[in-house]
Amino acid sequence: MFNVQVLGISAAAPAMGRGVSSQVVTYNDRNYLVDCGEGTQIQLTKFKVKVMRIDAIFISHLHGDHVFGLPGLLSSMSMDGRTTSLYLFAPASLKQVLNVILQQTNSYLSYPLEFVALEDFQPGTSILITDSFQVKSIPLLHRIFCRGFRFEEINKKPKFDFYKAKALEIPNQYFHLLKQGNTISLDNGRIIHPDEVLLPPDSAKSYCYCSDTAFYPAVVPHIENCELLYHEATFGDDLKSRARQTAHSTAREAATIAQKAKVKRLIMGHFSARYKDLSVLEKEAQSVFSESSVAEEGKIYQV
Ligand SMILES: [Zn+2]
Ligand SMILES: [Zn+2]
Repeated sequence: MFNVQVLGISAAAPAMGRGVSSQVVTYNDRNYLVDCGEGTQIQLTKFKVKVMRIDAIFISHLHGDHVFGLPGLLSSMSMDGRTTSLYLFAPASLKQVLNVILQQTNSYLSYPLEFVALEDFQPGTSILITDSFQVKSIPLLHRIFCRGFRFEEINKKPKFDFYKAKALEIPNQYFHLLKQGNTISLDNGRIIHPDEVLLPPDSAKSYCYCSDTAFYPAVVPHIENCELLYHEATFGDDLKSRARQTAHSTAREAATIAQKAKVKRLIMGHFSARYKDLSVLEKEAQSVFSESSVAEEGKIYQV
């Protein structure tokens, strides 16, 4: 299972009934919260995400619409009696911010908060890695230090062809050895090589999150060929100059990046509250890259 649930698509502040930036990326039984703007706890409840099942949090940058929900969420986890470690990947100065808030509000966390500073990693290197999954940071161009994230499968295993094994009359007790890549010798002396019953693995899939950024072609090598790209699209063509001033992107620019990076699908978010009707932005993006759409809050996107 590899999917993304978008919790908020509004820029700057909750508006028009839309929440601010936050998403949950799920890979197998692990849940990663990505950004945590004000009101994220409300969105988590609304979309029935179990807060205690969040294993790690990634914060792209320290603008309020990406982080103001975090102290409240950390505090709620503590009140609910969390004891398992929570990993927090974020710009270094967030640690000081959190320490001040916790101290000055006389708050205490019931669990270890393992802080990892994004500045300690070059973009493109793994900041979290398991035997089947990794997260890399992506350089973005914004008014303050800001990183996106690439979530990707690694070390995909060959698939065992059960029907082929049955056709070769291999007894079941040998299946696990063959799955592990061992050559086996049956009781009748017949030798079976693993290639006879293993199929090539599925291709490794990836999801890229580009939170707040100006149009930045240097991002392309970091997001190339991903199955799903989230890219901000704060403005439409009508406010291109405003996008320049504020280091944000237009929908057309998000689509241009998606096209250059040869991604399969683009979902867009971080919309200015000026846009009641988001279909305008969607059309502008689709004129460049047809597989573009406006992200829907609560919707689960399979990667
Ligand atoms: Zn920002
Ligand atoms: Zn923002």
